[in-house]
Amino acid sequence: MASTLKPAEVDTFRELLRNLRARLRGDLDQMTDEALRDQPDSSGNLSNVPLHMADVGTENYDLEFTLSLIENEQGVLDQIYNALARIEAGTFGACEECSGPIAKPRLQAIPYARLCIECARELEKHG
Ligand SMILES: [Zn+2]
Repeated sequence: MASTLKPAEVDTFRELLRNLRARLRGDLDQMTDEALRDQPDSSGNLSNVPLHMADVGTENYDLEFTLSLIENEQGVLDQIYNALARIEAGTFGACEECSGPIAKPRLQAIPYARLCIECARELEKHG
């Protein structure tokens, strides 16, 4: 309701969000593949267990790093889905907290932003 975006601008953001979604999905697929590919299988087949302990440490570190990336990207992906849902609902561009308009430059920087800058800062301050 409080959205000040013109329909054409909403279209632009929809396009932007869809592109982001496609890119993140591609990234996630690739990272998930890579994270899972080198795992020893859980069937108890010892031939798949890595022999060099030094390598195991590095691989675990990489895996953890990849998994945290996946988690981050999954979170962003969720927010992109939410933003696309808000576009369909006609509430895109309105702050979820105060219902005020989210500034356009902020949306251009973070098209899936759910909060206006004031509410985002408030949230950061209070955790
Ligand atoms: Zn707000």
